[in-house]
Amino acid sequence: MTVNAPFPELDELLLVVGEAGRRLSEIEATEGAAGNISVYIGWPVDPRRKFPIEETIELPEAVPGLAGRSFLVTGSGRRLREIVQDPAANLGFVVVDEGGKTGRLYTSPRRLFAKLTSEFNSHLAVHHDQISTSGTNFHAVIHAQPLHLTYLSHIPDYQDEAYLSRHILRWQPELIVQLPEGVGYLPFLVPGSPQLMAATVKSLRVQRVVVWGKHGAMARSDQSVKRAADRIEYAETGAHYEYLNLVNHGLGTGLTAEEIRAVCQAFGVQQAIF
Ligand SMILES: [Zn+2]
Repeated sequence: MTVNAPFPELDELLLVVGEAGRRLSEIEATEGAAGNISVYIGWPVDPRRKFPIEETIELPEAVPGLAGRSFLVTGSGRRLREIVQDPAANLGFVVVDEGGKTGRLYTSPRRLFAKLTSEFNSHLAVHHDQISTSGTNFHAVIHAQPLHLTYLSHIPDYQDEAYLSRHILRWQPELIVQLPEGVGYLPFLVPGSPQLMAATVKSLRVQRVVVWGKHGAMARSDQSVKRAADRIEYAETGAHYEYLNLVNHGLGTGLTAEEIRAVCQAFGVQQAIF
């Protein structure tokens, strides 16, 4: 997928990042300063009216193939629910330098953070991988910490991709339509670590959402920021049902595999989970 011209203006992108952050807060996936958002913008944007202050930063990994390309990234310690009040103060605009080891960081005079999110390594690696394989001109990546989905990742039975996907996608007919590859699952890995970065890249090649065991989730979309947020919300909604069912002694059955296959047939969804 790519985004077609006329391309969204920088202001519009700033607003949707804010709105996605607010929605993720409404579903209680961003306590305190948890969660982060980044957006790859594959068309020319001059950030300097919004972000006039320039500095050079070291990129978390070298991305020579992305020289000249732009990213919007949340600042470290910023609250996702507050971005919408003043997006420019909460986000940085990064343009990758020639060679891909450093980038030019553009920020607002109202900037409220010292550094970009410490998860920028995973964000950048996922963007890089997706841009190089699909050639997309737009890509959004979101990390959030939805309560029920994360809680399930603390239960051994759910620490398995197939089991987790089957159990959370059985509660609403649209879940399989929205997440036909299911959800990925990674065992606990230290936040911000190269191990988490590498495993996330691999998982998001296949799935649209990956659960970071005992931590949260990361989602991507090559269509819109809100679609990436929706993916976290869908996975969390399924996990919430699953949690309700666990505390209700497993009385609910969820949609049967046959019912879900009928939905897939009607909507032309290819899936291998049910
Ligand atoms: Zn986190």
